[in-house]
Amino acid sequence: MTSKQCPRCEGNGWLTRAGKNHAEAVTCECVATCKKCRGQGLTRIEREGGFAEMVVCPCGITDLRKRIELYNRAQIPPRFFRSQIDRYQAKNDDQATVKQTLLRIRDSFVGSLGIGLHGPPGVGKTHLLTALAGWMTLIGGKEVVYTDFSNLVARLRAGFDNGVGENRLIEPIAEVQVLMIDELGKGRATEWERGVIDRIISHRYNAQLPTFYATNYAIPDMAAATTNVDMEFQESLKSRLGSRVWSRLQEMSSPVYLGGQDFRARQPATRPSRAAGRSGVSPVPPKRG
Ligand SMILES: [Zn+2]
Ligand SMILES: [Zn+2]
Repeated sequence: MTSKQCPRCEGNGWLTRAGKNHAEAVTCECVATCKKCRGQGLTRIEREGGFAEMVVCPCGITDLRKRIELYNRAQIPPRFFRSQIDRYQAKNDDQATVKQTLLRIRDSFVGSLGIGLHGPPGVGKTHLLTALAGWMTLIGGKEVVYTDFSNLVARLRAGFDNGVGENRLIEPIAEVQVLMIDELGKGRATEWERGVIDRIISHRYNAQLPTFYATNYAIPDMAAATTNVDMEFQESLKSRLGSRVWSRLQEMSSPVYLGGQDFRARQPATRPSRAAGRSGVSPVPPKRG
């Protein structure tokens, strides 16, 4: 067992740090130096009749290594290696409600339903998304890919240009157990980009694979109902991605509104006036058909 007293990992058995290309997790020394298996994962048990057997060590390092590998393959940006939902400081009711929703998802995630965070820049959407990715890999043992939409599009474009087959490029994203797309809709929204996201979302929709996303673009009803929100937030994600993608997306990832001021801004910004229905988490009922 990992020592609950370990001051470095608090008994988790892992530590996270900012790697060169992405956030990375490593095994804490308290597990790596297990006296029974010396960090090898297997321990020797003497049986009757002079036989000995190698069994999985109760320190759990074998399973821990798998979860650490999942974290390291999730491609979380380096600066978000400390992300935790508990550490997200909610500054208004919207943020407090979304935090509670994500804690619930975190602690009892089953099935295929994801969540979509809609909000202006600088309210902590990436923090929450990467925190969920970290939890799902290190605690949940799930395969997760986190990707920024612009990077995803650029990477796929480069692959196509180099003659890599379309299926080979899209499959790892379309088929991953849990997908998290940040900055969804950002970019030029060309026909080609829409086609790529359509293929990914359609595949995940049909396969019932959970998708989480964050976006600076509005939930359609909100964009239509308000004219005085933040500039960045006036266009809807539906108009960016097209009706077909949006229709599926809102069914597979409940859209919620995460409002507030940009925490990066030094000057206090004017809080946009709130139209009815804009406060709190605003799940949009899925449209059928
Ligand atoms: Zn430790
Ligand atoms: Zn051990």
